[in-house]
Amino acid sequence: MRPIRRTAVAVATVLAVAGCLVGLDLTRAAPAAAQQPAAAAPPPYEEDYQGALSSTNQWWSAHWGDYFTGTYTSPQLLSADPQLPQGVYDAPADTVYCGNVPLDDLNAHYCGAGDYVAFDVDILNWSLTLGDAFIYLVVAHEWGHAIQARLDPSLVQVRYELQADCFAGAEIQGAVNDGLVVLEPGDDQELYNSLVAVADASPWTNVNDHGNADERIAAYSNGANGGVNACLPTS
Ligand SMILES: [Zn+2]
Repeated sequence: MRPIRRTAVAVATVLAVAGCLVGLDLTRAAPAAAQQPAAAAPPPYEEDYQGALSSTNQWWSAHWGDYFTGTYTSPQLLSADPQLPQGVYDAPADTVYCGNVPLDDLNAHYCGAGDYVAFDVDILNWSLTLGDAFIYLVVAHEWGHAIQARLDPSLVQVRYELQADCFAGAEIQGAVNDGLVVLEPGDDQELYNSLVAVADASPWTNVNDHGNADERIAAYSNGANGGVNACLPTS
């Protein structure tokens, strides 16, 4: 997946839980962190990360009014580590809190208390093994939680994490349709593999669950095929 345009994301810096991408199972399954890049070289995830932030924000900015009332505002990017891009932290070396909850290693978050998204550097580096579509999924999922925080509570699903996957599917497919990003050969498979990699082992039973692989794939596909309205409760 690659961005068409490189437009800076209009987000402010946060000086300062939260939805996350995965449960704790990933920590046990994850490979060792990638080696640190040379000081002058951009990190290997940088282009995809910036492309994902930009296209996700552009799409929601352009289409919020198609579905919802009020004015769209971008979530902020965590500012935690001057050595890393905005929005990126490196736990446990960086100790970052959302409220009184520390942001964990190998995960990604939307922090409602600060209205920011945050990505552990190791989960971004993990994209090197899963393909570049993984970063687009991670960013779109956390942005989905920021969207939930902006909605009337009646529009937020009890299956909170699966609704974030659905919004991710709606946004990524929408960005493709709008020409903001280009799907490259293998991206569909990478998205599938990524959803499997971050899924729970067991089916959804409560609001804290992310859902198993079948459920996460179904939720993402529902959004990709049906758009934002397919992610909202049926009245
Ligand atoms: Zn989540």
